[in-house]
Amino acid sequence: MQEDRSQSRTSLAELGEFGLINHLTQNFKIHHSSTLKGVGDDAAVLDMKNKLILVTTDLLIEGVHFDLSYMPLKHLGYKAVMANLSDVYAMNGNATQITVSMAVSNRFNLEALEELYAGIRLACKSYSIDLIGGDTTSSTKGMLISITAIGEVNKEDIVYRNTAKPYDLLVVTGDLGAAYLGLQVLEREKQVFEVNPTSQPDLTNYTYLIERQLKPEARKDIIGLLKDLKVKPTSMIDISDGLSSEILHICTQSKVGCDLYEDKIPLDPQVISTCEEFELNSTTIALSGGEDYELLFTISQEDFSKIKGNPHLTVIGHIIEESAGVNLVTRANQKIQLTAQGWNALLKK
Ligand code: ADP
Ligand code: MG
Repeated sequence: MQEDRSQSRTSLAELGEFGLINHLTQNFKIHHSSTLKGVGDDAAVLDMKNKLILVTTDLLIEGVHFDLSYMPLKHLGYKAVMANLSDVYAMNGNATQITVSMAVSNRFNLEALEELYAGIRLACKSYSIDLIGGDTTSSTKGMLISITAIGEVNKEDIVYRNTAKPYDLLVVTGDLGAAYLGLQVLEREKQVFEVNPTSQPDLTNYTYLIERQLKPEARKDIIGLLKDLKVKPTSMIDISDGLSSEILHICTQSKVGCDLYEDKIPLDPQVISTCEEFELNSTTIALSGGEDYELLFTISQEDFSKIKGNPHLTVIGHIIEESAGVNLVTRANQKIQLTAQGWNALLKK
C-alpha cells in the first residue's frame, strides 16, 4: 500500500533523523498549560500542579499487532493513540500528553510516515493531546510503534481495578464484539483478494464492524458523563481483551465474585447478523473478542437511578461474594463459570 511507485516518494535517508522528526512533529499544537516543554530538548517537562500523574505504554509490532495490508497507516496511528488514551480514561483520568517511538525499515518512505502521523495528529486534535516527544530509529524488518500516554487525575477521583464491592452493579459502555468481527471480515477479504486481485469487496453490511476495527474511539466522553451524573465508579477497567478477561481482572483484584447476565450484554445489530453469517456465537464474541476499547465499571446500588436509561450505559450484572464465583447466567438461566479467553486464544482456534 505504501509502496506505490507511480508517485514520487522520498526516502528517509534523504531527510536524516532530525529532518524527519522535525517534519513529522511540526504541525502539532500544544493544548495544555501542563506541557512546559514538548518536542525538542533532551526531555519533555510537565507541570501537573498537585494532581496525580497517570502513565501507560503500549508496544505494537507489525505482523503481530497490526497488518498493513488492510490497516491503512493513518488508521494505525489513530488507533495506537486510542489504545493508550483508553487506559488513562479507565483510571477516571484525563489524558494530556503522549510520546511516540517508532522503528521503521527502509521499506517505509517519508510519505508513509506522514500518513501514520496524520492519524496521530487527528487523534491528538480530537482528544486535546500534546505530542511531547518520542524516539525514531531503524529496524531490519517491518515497523514497531510504541506510544506512552500521560494523564492527570485529582486524588479524590482516581478509580482502580481492585475496589469493587459485593452488591455493586456491573456496567459496560457502548456495545461489544464489533471490532473482533471487523477483523474477521477484513481477514476474509484479504484472502479473497490474494486469490483474485481484481475482486471488489462489498462491505456495506459490515460498515460498523470495520469502523470499530479500523477507527476505534476511546471513551473520553464517558469520563465527562460520569462527572456530570455525579457517579464515581467503585472500580473500572477498559475492555481491550474481551469482556470475560476484564471482569476476571476486576473480580480477582477486588477479591469478589460476579454474576454476568447473558441477555444484558449489549450487541449491535451488525454483530448479531454477522455472527449468524459466520456461524459464531455472539456471546462468545462479546466475551472473548478484543479491541472494543469500551469501559467496564462497577457502581454502588445507590447510584443506579443516576445512570438508569442512559443510552451509553448498560447494567450487565452485579458483584457478589468471592466464594460465589464469577459466572455467566445464560438465557436459559444456567450459571456457567467464566474463564479468561483473551482474543488471541480465539484467533488460534
Ligand atoms: P535524543 O538523541 O536526545 O534521544 P532525539 O534526537 O531522539 O533526541 O529526539 C529529539 C527530540 O525529538 C526529542 O524531543 C524527542 O522526544 C523528539 N522525538 C524523537 N522522535 C520522535 C517521534 N517519532 N515523534 C515525536 N517526537 C520525537
Ligand atoms: Mg532519541
